[in-house]
Amino acid sequence: MTLVMKFGGTSVGSAAAMRETAVLIQQTQKEWGQVVVIASGMGSKPVKVTDLLLNGAHTAVSGDGETYKQLAGQLRQIHTEAIDGLLEPEEDRQSILAEINQFVKRFERLCQAVFVLGELTPRALDAISGMGEQMSVRILAAYLRQIGHPAEAIDATELVVTDNNFQAATPLMDLTEEKVAARLRPLLAQGDSPTIPIVTGFIGATQTGTTTTLGRGGSDFSAAILGQALHADEVWIWTDVDGVMSADPRLVPNARNIPTLTYREVSELAFYGAKVLHPKTIRPCVENGIPLRIKNTFNPAHAGTVIVPDNGAVNGGIKAVTAIKDLSLITVEGKGMMGVTGIAARTFGAVARSGVSVLLISQASSEQSICFSTPDETADSVITALETAFAAELARRDIDRIWAQHDVSIVTVVGVGMRHTPGIAGRLFSALGRHQVNIIAIAQGSSECSISLVVDGGDTGTAVAHIHDLI
Ligand code: ADP
Ligand code: MG
Repeated sequence: MTLVMKFGGTSVGSAAAMRETAVLIQQTQKEWGQVVVIASGMGSKPVKVTDLLLNGAHTAVSGDGETYKQLAGQLRQIHTEAIDGLLEPEEDRQSILAEINQFVKRFERLCQAVFVLGELTPRALDAISGMGEQMSVRILAAYLRQIGHPAEAIDATELVVTDNNFQAATPLMDLTEEKVAARLRPLLAQGDSPTIPIVTGFIGATQTGTTTTLGRGGSDFSAAILGQALHADEVWIWTDVDGVMSADPRLVPNARNIPTLTYREVSELAFYGAKVLHPKTIRPCVENGIPLRIKNTFNPAHAGTVIVPDNGAVNGGIKAVTAIKDLSLITVEGKGMMGVTGIAARTFGAVARSGVSVLLISQASSEQSICFSTPDETADSVITALETAFAAELARRDIDRIWAQHDVSIVTVVGVGMRHTPGIAGRLFSALGRHQVNIIAIAQGSSECSISLVVDGGDTGTAVAHIHDLI
């Protein structure tokens, strides 16, 4: 039986966390036989290594030649502390310390280049931001070897082949499967004590070997990619909460664990802001019928959440509520719009050409307005693109206005059972009405398993909390 397990930032965030993680790896390997581990960069709060790396690159490009040097010191310290807490002097310790030093120096050299050039390409950003995983897997693998488990740190640049869309690369699965088979199968096939591959999450490489990243939070996706490539029996995501909860426990302290969710439900939740799972993780699992579990490294006895096929559990109404902040709602409106053909196609064509993704669309049935949401920081460029696309219609006053309402949030409720439960929307609206939350726009997912409401940014917490009271 093959199990792919991913450990998130907090699960490898300190020496103590890495010990817990190592115990879990040992136990599951005894039960499953073939285990592949994916790890994120060290992410103990408040400092996440990936943020630190990104911060170095961004300050360097803005002409700051000092901050990245301080950050290099911090990077060295975080990793050295973990090594000090885990590795015995006589074991791999010296060689791992030397490797960490090499990475830190590389970080400094890359940031220096960015500083000198005054340019930060997506490609350079990927080379810099992917180093956190490369450091953490080396420490974790060395610790496993020290406690008597054959383990090998592997950079996913050797396994995951991607296109060259830096920052959000897409895996090329055929090539990836070949590489994974050639590199990992021999390790896993070593009879009674197979070597446990400890693979970097988040990164991959183009066909010519340049490092790419899969997007923020992409280590979950890495696990699904390897799960598919290995035809794994299950994929488990280990994190710092008891599985998927009825709301973000950081926003809603009394959020509850959800024992089972369907692929569709968890897709909607992930897409609409539940950070616990990266939205791209789901597709490789659904398409290959691989069960997906989310579990808590710090409470492993808890069953966590299991994701089941869409024809599975169809009980209850609303299962969870989630939110995305810092959006703009852009509206294209005009009394003459009814007569203009292809307004929607042209609107979204213009938005797509400016490289912005739309999270929600809502159209009044009279076709006098279309509105949609985009990340706040993209609103101005989207409006400019639309004004260009509709210059003639604006001049003729077929379109009166194209404008943005800034600082709004999308609050989404999810549950496949909602479609069989009458009155959900009514309950939502009256809950929000009672607490003076104004609903700016509404959209229902076509699968009828989600309803999204746009509210003022300042109302996000209130809306989420009072909707959660309905669950
Ligand atoms: P990791 O580093 O393990 O990938 P993340 O921080 O990416 O961890 O994801 C876990 C976090 O997701 C939790 O600590 C929690 O704050 C947040 N979160 C947001 N929405 C939810 C939800 N519905 N259920 C569980 N966790 C959620
Ligand atoms: Mg994550």
